[in-house]
Amino acid sequence: IAASNHSRHVKPTLLVSRLYQPSNLRDVGQDSRLQGEMTCKSQMLMQQAGLIHPSNPGCYYYLPVTVRSMEKLVRVIDQEMQGIGGQKLDMPSLCSADLWKTSERWDLMGKELFRLKDRHNADYCLGPTHEEAVTTLVAHQTTLSYRQLPLLLYQVTRKFRDEPKPRFGLLRGREFYMKDMYSFDMSEEAAHRTYESVCQAYTRLFARLGLRCVQVQADTGNIGGTLSHEFQLPADIGEDRLLVCGTCSFAANVETLSPDKTDCPQCSAGTLVESKGIEVGHTFYLGRKYSNIFKAIFSNHQNKPTVAEMGCYGLGVTRILAAAIEVMSTEEAIRWPGLIAPYQVCVLPPKKGSKVEEAAVLAEDLVHTLGQFLPHLRGEVVLDDRTQMTIGKRLRDAGRLGYPYVVVVGQAALEEMPKFEVICQQTGETVFLSKDGLIDLL
Ligand code: ATP
Ligand code: MG
Ligand code: MG
Ligand code: MG
Repeated sequence: IAASNHSRHVKPTLLVSRLYQPSNLRDVGQDSRLQGEMTCKSQMLMQQAGLIHPSNPGCYYYLPVTVRSMEKLVRVIDQEMQGIGGQKLDMPSLCSADLWKTSERWDLMGKELFRLKDRHNADYCLGPTHEEAVTTLVAHQTTLSYRQLPLLLYQVTRKFRDEPKPRFGLLRGREFYMKDMYSFDMSEEAAHRTYESVCQAYTRLFARLGLRCVQVQADTGNIGGTLSHEFQLPADIGEDRLLVCGTCSFAANVETLSPDKTDCPQCSAGTLVESKGIEVGHTFYLGRKYSNIFKAIFSNHQNKPTVAEMGCYGLGVTRILAAAIEVMSTEEAIRWPGLIAPYQVCVLPPKKGSKVEEAAVLAEDLVHTLGQFLPHLRGEVVLDDRTQMTIGKRLRDAGRLGYPYVVVVGQAALEEMPKFEVICQQTGETVFLSKDGLIDLL
């Protein structure tokens, strides 16, 4: 981001003063027109800290800090999807209406579909999901064989939905990032195995992020199909209502149950406890709904043409990011899953003109040492060079942004056995460590 070229040998340092993190609240006060309406904690925190900026209803600028975090999240998602054989592609967002008319969803989607016309007056929509597109793609190939199965194709792209009530910041946008994966198999059993492996990958993903999601039975909506689960993150502002049995493993979205059922339909002994959740992922077994329409056909072991069994699997990428902030943060301070925190460490040199000003060089030195000894921290350590500000003010900012580790270089660093004050923001602990101790910790 910025170079502090004190020495020709050292790498450029990431300086907090140069981070593009415009915090609009300071300038516009409480003017809700300029701020966009604040509807939840994650939106407020993300706007205050200069992570997102409202542009129009349900649309945001994702500012650099957010993009860093999102790229990390996508990397973790890629690992999990590719770990079960997923192959990443990228499909057009501008989708021809023909496909949507063929599947009859052009009418079914109603007002949620963003529709437009090209210069030849042909109808298009901005892709809200890509079952039609991916099935047509696969169907175009004439030589598909059972040897290629299961075929798992996925993308991470912007999706467009004209939501009736865009709100809660990135939780419900009209333009948002989704990871959508589509699976092709030869038999119902094989498709169920694939479905199961995707659910397991989702479970691993959320465990790695430290998010306690619940997998619940779900409605299939207008995507269609017969078997479906949602991954729900329990939260008070969640828009879904979940029923979880106190006795057995049963868990469902209320949408799937008749209104008067209070006893568990699985064990009939337990009572169902209601809670609210944010839907962060959704899996569907589609059967042959789309493959029949678009003729996605594979040749089987006997060389006989067979219509593919499909599944589709969504993850709300930007929603996961905001939902994690929503459930992990306090009203004042952002907390991230460690894996996707935008920067891992923030180093605070002393205030200019203070008694311990000379410790400033130790701070810069520390940044370089960490990068040198800990390759995983390269590009992850920022130096809060705003030394005209007190340590206290900069600590408050660092607390708000939620760097997992904040290192204060002050009095203790100048002593005979130099020590750094290390605040582990995830646990709230503060420890004094030598440089070696710090390298061990990180
Ligand atoms: P919701 O019930 O919240 O409207 P959905 O059931 O319509 O979501 P799906 O079609 O299942 O959404 O899409 C897959 C995933 O995309 C969802 O599980 C969610 O995480 C994410 N998602 C859906 N709509 C939005 C949105 N408007 N903003 C951000 N993420 C979204
Ligand atoms: Mg929806
Ligand atoms: Mg839903
Ligand atoms: Mg859904």
